Amino acid sequence: MNNTVVLVVEDDASVRNLITTTLKTHDYRYLTAVNGKEAVMMAATHNPSVVFLDLGLPDMDGIDVIRQIRTWSNMPIIVISARSEDSDKTEILDAGADDYLTKPFSVEELLARLRVTERRLMLMNADGSPDQSVYTNGKLTIDYSAGCASIGGEELKLTPMEYRLLCLLARNTGKVLTHTYITQNIWGRSWDNDIASLRVFMTTLRKKLEASPDSPRYIQTHIGIGYRMVRVD
Ligand code: CA
Repeated sequence: MNNTVVLVVEDDASVRNLITTTLKTHDYRYLTAVNGKEAVMMAATHNPSVVFLDLGLPDMDGIDVIRQIRTWSNMPIIVISARSEDSDKTEILDAGADDYLTKPFSVEELLARLRVTERRLMLMNADGSPDQSVYTNGKLTIDYSAGCASIGGEELKLTPMEYRLLCLLARNTGKVLTHTYITQNIWGRSWDNDIASLRVFMTTLRKKLEASPDSPRYIQTHIGIGYRMVRVD
């Protein structure tokens, strides 16, 4: 049996059953909630490893569920949304969600998101140990204490801004970071100009980091939303 416990929050019985059947088939343990109030209560009392959260709940908006859970916990929250607008996704991620799935989604997609989140959880737990000053992902290595990064043993000649950007993405491997989140972390503010600059820094960073910058392996683009560092096996 898998140690991951998934809280499934979904009022639509057919979607809920699809998710729970998938989880059961793959040996995940799960709990269910059918509205926002129940979701917040279950999250607080059972401390699940991951939450799958439908946004359109009968009693409250899913975004408010995220905000309430975030007042006391960083547990990963993957939003299941029927809304396809980029601005909604940005709002969801900025409210503290880790990832999103757009309805209709496939079982494979659901499991893939869950695996990404599990890996991130493992890293988050590993980060608590003292000698996590070196980050590795595929051929990429970041030595946080020395303040340098290399790819395949070759040091990357990064500008301070590119290095900060790379570290921010690496520390959140598996998580989609919105443009606003990134610019606020790097510049301490988020203006339209900053988002345009971010694109420029991302282009130069990718040229140094990626073997083929046009089909990046490490940093995924979420158009209109932000970027995600992917774990490369
Ligand atoms: Ca719903």
